Amino acid sequence: MAKKKVAFYTMGCKLNYAETSTIARMFSNSYYQHVSFKSYADIYIINSCSVTKKAELEFKYLVRSAMNKNAKSFIIAIGCYAQLNSKKVSSIFGVDLVLGSKEKFKIIDYINNEKLISKKHYPKIISDTEKKDFYFPSFSFGDRTRSFFKIQDGCDYKCSYCVIPMSRGVSRSESMENVLKNIKSLFKKGVKEIVLTGVNIGDYGKIYGKNNRLYTFFDLIQAIDKIEEKGRIRLSSIEPNLLKNEYIEFFSKSKHFVPHFHIPLQSGSNEILRKMRRRYNREIYQEKVKKIQCLIPDAYIGSDVIVGFPGETYKHFLETYNFLKKLEISSLHIFTYSPRPNTRSIIMQEHVSKTIQWKRNKILRNLSQKKYRFFCESQINKKKTVLFENSSVNKEYLYGYTENYIRTKIPINSYNLLLYRNTLQNVLIKEIDKDGVLIVEPINKL
Ligand code: SF4
Repeated sequence: MAKKKVAFYTMGCKLNYAETSTIARMFSNSYYQHVSFKSYADIYIINSCSVTKKAELEFKYLVRSAMNKNAKSFIIAIGCYAQLNSKKVSSIFGVDLVLGSKEKFKIIDYINNEKLISKKHYPKIISDTEKKDFYFPSFSFGDRTRSFFKIQDGCDYKCSYCVIPMSRGVSRSESMENVLKNIKSLFKKGVKEIVLTGVNIGDYGKIYGKNNRLYTFFDLIQAIDKIEEKGRIRLSSIEPNLLKNEYIEFFSKSKHFVPHFHIPLQSGSNEILRKMRRRYNREIYQEKVKKIQCLIPDAYIGSDVIVGFPGETYKHFLETYNFLKKLEISSLHIFTYSPRPNTRSIIMQEHVSKTIQWKRNKILRNLSQKKYRFFCESQINKKKTVLFENSSVNKEYLYGYTENYIRTKIPINSYNLLLYRNTLQNVLIKEIDKDGVLIVEPINKL
Protein backbone atom coordinates (compact mmCIF):
# COMPACT_ATOMS: atom_id res chain seq x y z
CA MET A 1 0.00 0.00 0.00
CA ALA A 2 1.39 3.41 -1.00
CA LYS A 3 2.50 5.55 1.94
CA LYS A 4 0.25 8.50 2.71
CA LYS A 5 1.96 11.81 2.07
CA VAL A 6 1.69 14.13 5.10
CA ALA A 7 2.74 17.78 5.18
CA PHE A 8 3.05 20.18 8.14
CA TYR A 9 2.99 23.95 8.34
CA THR A 10 3.75 25.86 11.55
CA MET A 11 2.64 29.41 12.22
CA GLY A 12 3.58 31.63 15.16
CA CYS A 13 5.95 31.01 18.02
CA LYS A 14 8.84 28.67 18.84
CA LEU A 15 6.47 26.72 21.10
CA ASN A 16 4.33 25.88 18.07
CA TYR A 17 7.47 24.68 16.23
CA ALA A 18 8.43 22.42 19.14
CA GLU A 19 4.90 20.97 19.20
CA THR A 20 4.64 20.49 15.41
CA SER A 21 8.01 18.69 15.39
CA THR A 22 6.83 16.42 18.23
CA ILE A 23 3.55 15.65 16.41
CA ALA A 24 5.42 15.08 13.12
CA ARG A 25 7.60 12.45 14.83
CA MET A 26 4.39 10.50 15.55
CA PHE A 27 4.15 10.05 11.76
CA SER A 28 7.62 8.56 11.52
CA ASN A 29 6.48 5.08 10.61
CA SER A 30 5.92 2.97 7.49
CA TYR A 31 2.46 4.36 6.73
CA TYR A 32 3.42 7.95 6.22
CA GLN A 33 5.89 9.90 4.12
CA HIS A 34 6.77 13.44 5.20
CA VAL A 35 6.62 15.91 2.31
CA SER A 36 7.08 19.69 2.16
CA PHE A 37 3.96 21.80 2.55
CA LYS A 38 4.83 23.26 -0.87
CA SER A 39 4.12 19.91 -2.55
CA TYR A 40 1.23 17.49 -3.15
CA ALA A 41 0.07 15.67 0.01
CA ASP A 42 -2.81 13.44 1.17
CA ILE A 43 -2.91 15.08 4.59
CA TYR A 44 -2.07 18.70 5.43
CA ILE A 45 -1.67 19.68 9.10
CA ILE A 46 -1.56 23.42 9.89
CA ASN A 47 -0.46 24.48 13.39
CA SER A 48 -2.22 27.84 13.64
CA CYS A 49 -1.66 31.08 15.59
CA SER A 50 -4.17 33.62 16.86
CA VAL A 51 -2.01 36.45 18.18
CA THR A 52 -3.10 38.83 15.38
CA LYS A 53 -5.94 39.12 12.85
CA LYS A 54 -3.23 38.78 10.18
CA ALA A 55 -2.38 35.29 11.49
CA GLU A 56 -5.97 34.19 10.98
CA LEU A 57 -5.98 35.50 7.39
CA GLU A 58 -2.73 33.66 6.74
CA PHE A 59 -4.38 30.44 7.98
CA LYS A 60 -7.16 30.78 5.39
CA TYR A 61 -4.56 31.37 2.66
CA LEU A 62 -2.69 28.16 3.72
CA VAL A 63 -5.90 26.08 3.53
CA ARG A 64 -6.59 27.45 0.03
CA SER A 65 -3.02 26.68 -1.08
CA ALA A 66 -3.36 23.08 0.23
CA MET A 67 -6.67 22.67 -1.62
CA ASN A 68 -5.01 24.00 -4.80
CA LYS A 69 -2.36 21.29 -4.56
CA ASN A 70 -4.83 18.50 -3.76
CA ALA A 71 -8.55 19.20 -3.59
CA LYS A 72 -9.11 15.70 -2.14
CA SER A 73 -6.55 16.18 0.64
CA PHE A 74 -7.55 15.89 4.30
CA ILE A 75 -6.83 19.18 6.06
CA ILE A 76 -6.39 19.36 9.84
CA ALA A 77 -6.28 22.54 11.92
CA ILE A 78 -4.48 22.57 15.27
CA GLY A 79 -2.97 25.35 17.42
CA CYS A 80 -4.29 28.51 19.09
CA TYR A 81 -6.68 29.66 16.32
CA ALA A 82 -8.25 26.15 16.23
CA GLN A 83 -8.52 26.11 20.04
CA LEU A 84 -10.00 29.60 20.33
CA ASN A 85 -12.34 29.59 17.30
CA SER A 86 -13.01 25.92 16.48
CA LYS A 87 -16.44 26.60 14.92
CA LYS A 88 -15.13 29.48 12.77
CA VAL A 89 -12.11 27.43 11.66
CA SER A 90 -14.33 24.47 10.82
CA SER A 91 -16.40 26.74 8.56
CA ILE A 92 -13.37 27.54 6.38
CA PHE A 93 -13.82 25.68 3.08
CA GLY A 94 -11.36 22.78 2.90
CA VAL A 95 -10.89 22.20 6.63
CA ASP A 96 -11.89 18.62 7.56
CA LEU A 97 -10.83 18.26 11.18
CA VAL A 98 -10.28 20.82 13.96
CA LEU A 99 -8.39 19.51 16.99
CA GLY A 100 -8.18 21.44 20.27
CA SER A 101 -5.07 21.88 22.41
CA LYS A 102 -5.42 18.49 24.08
CA GLU A 103 -6.60 16.46 21.12
CA LYS A 104 -3.81 17.68 18.81
CA PHE A 105 -1.38 15.29 20.50
CA LYS A 106 -3.71 12.35 19.78
CA ILE A 107 -3.86 13.28 16.07
CA ILE A 108 -2.41 9.95 14.90
CA ASP A 109 -5.31 8.04 16.55
CA TYR A 110 -7.85 10.15 14.66
CA ILE A 111 -5.91 9.81 11.41
CA ASN A 112 -5.66 6.04 11.73
CA ASN A 113 -9.44 5.98 11.87
CA GLU A 114 -9.94 5.35 8.13
CA LYS A 115 -13.60 6.24 8.15
CA LEU A 116 -12.68 9.69 9.43
CA ILE A 117 -10.03 10.70 6.94
CA SER A 118 -12.09 10.87 3.77
CA LYS A 119 -12.97 14.26 2.39
CA LYS A 120 -16.24 15.21 4.03
CA HIS A 121 -18.70 17.94 3.38
CA TYR A 122 -19.12 18.61 7.03
CA PRO A 123 -15.86 19.08 8.93
CA LYS A 124 -15.43 17.48 12.34
CA ILE A 125 -14.49 19.39 15.46
CA ILE A 126 -12.84 17.47 18.29
CA SER A 127 -11.99 20.12 20.81
CA ASP A 128 -12.70 20.43 24.49
CA THR A 129 -12.26 24.18 24.76
CA GLU A 130 -12.35 23.93 28.54
CA LYS A 131 -9.67 21.24 28.85
CA LYS A 132 -6.53 23.12 27.95
CA ASP A 133 -4.61 22.84 31.25
CA PHE A 134 -2.66 19.67 30.64
CA TYR A 135 1.00 19.30 29.66
CA PHE A 136 2.53 17.47 26.70
CA PRO A 137 6.35 17.47 26.50
CA SER A 138 7.61 18.77 23.17
CA PHE A 139 10.86 19.61 21.43
CA SER A 140 11.96 19.95 17.83
CA PHE A 141 14.55 17.50 16.58
CA GLY A 142 16.00 16.74 13.20
CA ASP A 143 14.11 19.38 11.23
CA ARG A 144 16.23 22.38 12.28
CA THR A 145 19.81 23.12 13.33
CA ARG A 146 18.65 24.29 16.75
CA SER A 147 16.17 22.41 18.92
CA PHE A 148 13.20 24.39 20.28
CA PHE A 149 12.57 22.85 23.69
CA LYS A 150 9.28 23.41 25.54
CA ILE A 151 9.77 23.81 29.32
CA GLN A 152 6.53 25.62 30.15
CA ASP A 153 3.05 26.25 28.74
CA GLY A 154 0.16 28.66 29.44
CA CYS A 155 0.22 31.95 31.34
CA ASP A 156 -1.29 33.34 34.57
CA TYR A 157 -0.78 36.97 33.52
CA LYS A 158 -3.71 39.04 32.21
CA CYS A 159 -2.16 41.50 29.75
CA SER A 160 -5.13 43.40 28.39
CA TYR A 161 -4.37 42.77 24.67
CA CYS A 162 -3.43 39.08 24.85
CA VAL A 163 -5.42 35.95 23.91
CA ILE A 164 -2.74 33.41 24.81
CA PRO A 165 -4.00 32.59 28.34
CA MET A 166 -7.39 31.85 26.69
CA SER A 167 -5.89 29.49 24.12
CA ARG A 168 -3.12 27.87 26.16
CA GLY A 169 -4.55 27.93 29.73
CA VAL A 170 -2.81 28.43 33.08
CA SER A 171 0.96 28.42 33.62
CA ARG A 172 2.36 24.91 34.05
CA SER A 173 5.75 23.38 33.54
CA GLU A 174 7.67 20.28 32.53
CA SER A 175 9.22 18.39 35.47
CA MET A 176 12.86 19.29 36.15
CA GLU A 177 13.89 15.61 35.78
CA ASN A 178 12.38 15.41 32.31
CA VAL A 179 13.92 18.69 31.19
CA LEU A 180 17.42 17.59 32.27
CA LYS A 181 17.04 14.06 30.87
CA ASN A 182 15.84 15.29 27.45
CA ILE A 183 18.43 18.06 27.16
CA LYS A 184 21.22 15.57 27.89
CA SER A 185 19.88 13.15 25.31
CA LEU A 186 19.57 15.88 22.66
CA PHE A 187 23.17 16.98 23.24
CA LYS A 188 24.24 13.31 23.04
CA LYS A 189 22.37 13.03 19.73
CA GLY A 190 24.49 15.83 18.31
CA VAL A 191 22.21 18.84 18.85
CA LYS A 192 24.55 21.80 19.33
CA GLU A 193 22.01 24.37 20.53
CA ILE A 194 18.74 24.16 22.46
CA VAL A 195 16.31 27.09 22.72
CA LEU A 196 14.24 26.97 25.92
CA THR A 197 10.73 28.00 24.99
CA GLY A 198 7.26 28.31 26.44
CA VAL A 199 4.64 31.03 26.88
CA ASN A 200 6.07 32.64 30.06
CA ILE A 201 9.28 30.71 30.77
CA GLY A 202 10.34 32.97 33.66
CA ASP A 203 7.31 31.58 35.49
CA TYR A 204 8.74 28.05 35.26
CA GLY A 205 8.09 25.85 38.24
CA LYS A 206 4.36 25.16 38.56
CA ILE A 207 4.62 21.50 37.67
CA TYR A 208 1.56 20.19 35.85
CA GLY A 209 -0.72 18.22 38.17
CA LYS A 210 0.93 19.61 41.29
CA ASN A 211 -0.89 22.39 43.17
CA ASN A 212 2.02 24.42 44.27
CA ARG A 213 5.23 25.67 42.73
CA LEU A 214 8.02 23.06 43.10
CA TYR A 215 10.86 25.03 41.56
CA THR A 216 11.86 28.48 40.37
CA PHE A 217 13.29 29.40 37.00
CA PHE A 218 16.58 29.97 38.87
CA ASP A 219 16.57 26.34 40.11
CA LEU A 220 16.11 25.19 36.52
CA ILE A 221 18.90 27.26 34.93
CA GLN A 222 21.34 26.28 37.66
CA ALA A 223 20.53 22.59 37.17
CA ILE A 224 20.83 22.85 33.37
CA ASP A 225 24.22 24.56 33.68
CA LYS A 226 25.55 21.53 35.57
CA ILE A 227 24.91 19.25 32.57
CA GLU A 228 28.22 17.67 31.45
CA GLU A 229 27.35 17.25 27.79
CA LYS A 230 28.54 20.11 25.57
CA GLY A 231 26.05 22.44 23.89
CA ARG A 232 24.58 25.94 23.89
CA ILE A 233 21.37 26.90 25.68
CA ARG A 234 19.45 29.96 24.45
CA LEU A 235 16.42 31.56 26.12
CA SER A 236 13.49 32.31 23.79
CA SER A 237 11.93 35.28 25.60
CA ILE A 238 11.57 36.31 29.26
CA GLU A 239 9.31 38.89 30.95
CA PRO A 240 11.31 41.86 32.37
CA ASN A 241 9.82 41.48 35.85
CA LEU A 242 10.85 37.79 35.89
CA LEU A 243 14.46 38.40 34.80
CA LYS A 244 15.92 38.76 38.27
CA ASN A 245 19.33 40.43 38.75
CA GLU A 246 20.70 37.23 40.28
CA TYR A 247 19.78 35.43 37.04
CA ILE A 248 21.77 37.98 35.02
CA GLU A 249 24.76 37.54 37.36
CA PHE A 250 24.42 33.78 36.91
CA PHE A 251 24.22 33.98 33.10
CA SER A 252 27.33 36.20 33.05
CA LYS A 253 29.37 33.26 34.41
CA SER A 254 27.36 30.40 32.82
CA LYS A 255 28.85 27.41 30.96
CA HIS A 256 25.91 26.70 28.67
CA PHE A 257 23.71 29.81 28.50
CA VAL A 258 24.53 32.18 25.61
CA PRO A 259 24.58 36.02 25.94
CA HIS A 260 21.24 36.64 24.22
CA PHE A 261 18.14 38.09 25.90
CA HIS A 262 14.74 38.76 24.32
CA ILE A 263 12.80 40.92 26.76
CA PRO A 264 9.35 42.23 25.66
CA LEU A 265 8.88 45.95 26.48
CA GLN A 266 5.65 46.64 24.55
CA SER A 267 5.67 50.39 25.36
CA GLY A 268 8.07 53.03 26.72
CA SER A 269 5.17 54.95 28.29
CA ASN A 270 4.28 53.92 31.86
CA GLU A 271 0.70 55.08 31.31
CA ILE A 272 0.30 52.73 28.33
CA LEU A 273 2.08 49.91 30.21
CA ARG A 274 -0.54 50.27 32.96
CA LYS A 275 -3.36 50.09 30.37
CA MET A 276 -1.69 46.96 28.95
CA ARG A 277 -1.63 45.51 32.50
CA ARG A 278 2.07 44.77 32.16
CA ARG A 279 3.86 43.97 35.44
CA TYR A 280 6.75 46.46 35.26
CA ASN A 281 7.43 50.07 34.38
CA ARG A 282 10.06 51.44 32.01
CA GLU A 283 12.46 52.17 34.90
CA ILE A 284 12.54 48.46 35.82
CA TYR A 285 13.09 47.59 32.16
CA GLN A 286 15.96 50.07 31.88
CA GLU A 287 17.55 48.68 35.03
CA LYS A 288 17.58 45.16 33.52
CA VAL A 289 19.18 46.35 30.30
CA LYS A 290 21.82 48.30 32.21
CA LYS A 291 22.56 45.29 34.43
CA ILE A 292 23.05 43.07 31.38
CA GLN A 293 25.21 45.65 29.61
CA CYS A 294 27.34 46.01 32.72
CA LEU A 295 27.90 42.27 33.35
CA ILE A 296 27.69 40.93 29.76
CA PRO A 297 28.75 43.86 27.49
CA ASP A 298 28.54 41.84 24.23
CA ALA A 299 25.08 40.45 24.98
CA TYR A 300 22.41 40.72 22.31
CA ILE A 301 19.21 42.29 23.69
CA GLY A 302 16.10 42.08 21.54
CA SER A 303 12.73 43.55 22.47
CA ASP A 304 9.06 43.51 21.43
CA VAL A 305 7.07 46.76 21.07
CA ILE A 306 3.39 47.23 20.24
CA VAL A 307 2.46 50.44 18.36
CA GLY A 308 -1.02 51.92 18.12
CA PHE A 309 -2.46 50.54 21.38
CA PRO A 310 -5.83 52.19 22.19
CA GLY A 311 -5.24 55.61 23.75
CA GLU A 312 -1.60 55.83 22.53
CA THR A 313 -1.19 59.55 21.79
CA TYR A 314 1.70 61.09 19.86
CA LYS A 315 3.18 62.05 23.26
CA HIS A 316 3.07 58.41 24.44
CA PHE A 317 4.65 57.29 21.17
CA LEU A 318 7.43 59.87 21.57
CA GLU A 319 8.07 58.57 25.10
CA THR A 320 8.50 55.09 23.62
CA TYR A 321 10.71 56.33 20.78
CA ASN A 322 12.99 58.44 23.01
CA PHE A 323 13.19 55.68 25.63
CA LEU A 324 14.24 53.09 23.02
CA LYS A 325 16.65 55.51 21.32
CA LYS A 326 18.63 55.88 24.56
CA LEU A 327 18.44 52.19 25.51
CA GLU A 328 21.42 49.96 24.57
CA ILE A 329 19.44 47.23 22.85
CA SER A 330 20.28 45.39 19.64
CA SER A 331 16.95 45.17 17.77
CA LEU A 332 13.18 45.49 18.02
CA HIS A 333 10.25 43.32 16.94
CA ILE A 334 7.52 45.81 16.14
CA PHE A 335 3.90 44.69 16.32
CA THR A 336 0.91 46.82 15.33
CA TYR A 337 -1.85 46.53 17.93
CA SER A 338 -4.46 43.99 16.74
CA PRO A 339 -7.78 43.99 18.64
CA ARG A 340 -8.45 40.39 19.78
CA PRO A 341 -11.87 39.01 20.81
CA ASN A 342 -12.60 38.64 24.55
CA THR A 343 -9.55 40.66 25.60
CA ARG A 344 -9.83 43.65 27.96
CA SER A 345 -8.40 46.08 25.40
CA ILE A 346 -11.07 45.28 22.80
CA ILE A 347 -13.56 47.51 24.65
CA MET A 348 -11.08 50.35 25.08
CA GLN A 349 -11.88 53.59 23.20
CA GLU A 350 -9.52 56.08 21.49
CA HIS A 351 -8.50 53.74 18.70
CA VAL A 352 -5.39 54.78 16.71
CA SER A 353 -5.98 54.99 12.94
CA LYS A 354 -4.36 52.45 10.63
CA THR A 355 -2.36 55.22 8.92
CA ILE A 356 -0.90 56.47 12.19
CA GLN A 357 -0.23 52.85 13.33
CA TRP A 358 1.61 52.23 10.06
CA LYS A 359 3.66 55.43 10.41
CA ARG A 360 4.69 54.63 13.99
CA ASN A 361 5.55 51.05 13.03
CA LYS A 362 7.79 52.34 10.22
CA ILE A 363 9.58 54.86 12.49
CA LEU A 364 10.41 52.12 15.02
CA ARG A 365 11.50 49.71 12.28
CA ASN A 366 13.99 52.32 11.08
CA LEU A 367 15.21 52.78 14.63
CA SER A 368 15.60 49.01 14.98
CA GLN A 369 17.70 48.80 11.79
CA LYS A 370 19.99 51.54 13.09
CA LYS A 371 20.37 49.77 16.45
CA TYR A 372 21.09 46.41 14.80
CA ARG A 373 23.68 47.95 12.48
CA PHE A 374 25.35 49.73 15.41
CA PHE A 375 25.44 46.48 17.39
CA CYS A 376 26.91 44.55 14.45
CA GLU A 377 29.60 47.20 13.83
CA SER A 378 30.61 46.88 17.49
CA GLN A 379 31.34 43.20 16.86
CA ILE A 380 33.82 43.61 13.98
CA ASN A 381 37.29 42.17 14.65
CA LYS A 382 35.91 40.22 17.61
CA LYS A 383 36.28 36.44 18.01
CA LYS A 384 33.02 34.53 18.32
CA THR A 385 31.68 30.98 17.96
CA VAL A 386 29.20 30.31 15.15
CA LEU A 387 26.80 27.37 14.88
CA PHE A 388 26.70 26.82 11.13
CA GLU A 389 23.33 25.68 9.88
CA ASN A 390 22.49 22.30 8.45
CA SER A 391 21.23 23.64 5.21
CA SER A 392 22.89 26.44 3.28
CA VAL A 393 20.39 28.96 1.96
CA ASN A 394 22.46 29.62 -1.14
CA LYS A 395 25.32 28.07 -3.04
CA GLU A 396 27.82 30.80 -2.14
CA TYR A 397 27.67 31.01 1.64
CA LEU A 398 27.08 28.89 4.71
CA TYR A 399 25.12 30.76 7.40
CA GLY A 400 24.98 30.55 11.17
CA TYR A 401 24.44 32.49 14.39
CA THR A 402 27.08 33.55 16.91
CA GLU A 403 26.47 32.95 20.61
CA ASN A 404 25.28 36.57 20.88
CA TYR A 405 22.74 35.96 18.09
CA ILE A 406 24.39 37.69 15.15
CA ARG A 407 23.65 36.33 11.72
CA THR A 408 26.91 35.51 9.97
CA LYS A 409 28.04 33.86 6.77
CA ILE A 410 31.21 32.22 5.43
CA PRO A 411 32.12 31.75 1.76
CA ILE A 412 31.51 28.13 0.82
CA ASN A 413 34.30 25.96 -0.48
CA SER A 414 33.95 22.22 -0.90
CA TYR A 415 36.08 21.72 2.20
CA ASN A 416 34.18 23.73 4.75
CA LEU A 417 30.77 22.98 3.31
CA LEU A 418 30.97 19.35 4.32
CA LEU A 419 32.79 19.93 7.59
CA TYR A 420 31.11 23.07 8.94
CA ARG A 421 27.46 22.15 8.68
CA ASN A 422 25.81 21.79 12.11
CA THR A 423 29.12 22.45 13.87
CA LEU A 424 30.34 25.14 16.26
CA GLN A 425 33.34 26.99 14.77
CA ASN A 426 35.54 29.73 16.23
CA VAL A 427 35.57 32.67 13.87
CA LEU A 428 36.82 36.23 13.51
CA ILE A 429 34.18 38.78 12.52
CA LYS A 430 35.52 40.60 9.47
CA GLU A 431 32.90 42.92 7.93
CA ILE A 432 29.20 43.59 7.31
CA ASP A 433 27.68 42.87 3.90
CA LYS A 434 25.00 45.03 2.28
CA ASP A 435 22.19 43.01 3.93
CA GLY A 436 23.62 43.49 7.43
CA VAL A 437 24.98 39.92 7.59
CA LEU A 438 28.46 39.65 9.06
CA ILE A 439 31.13 37.89 7.02
CA VAL A 440 33.38 35.74 9.20
CA GLU A 441 36.69 33.94 8.82
CA PRO A 442 37.48 30.66 10.57
CA ILE A 443 40.13 31.01 13.26
CA ASN A 444 41.29 27.41 13.30
CA LYS A 445 41.73 26.62 9.60
CA LEU A 446 40.53 22.96 9.31
S1 SF4 B 1 2.76 37.57 29.70
FE1 SF4 B 1 1.04 38.77 28.89
S2 SF4 B 1 1.50 38.95 26.71
FE2 SF4 B 1 2.73 37.25 27.48
S3 SF4 B 1 1.49 35.43 27.14
FE3 SF4 B 1 1.09 36.14 29.22
S4 SF4 B 1 -0.74 37.42 29.03
FE4 SF4 B 1 0.13 37.19 26.98
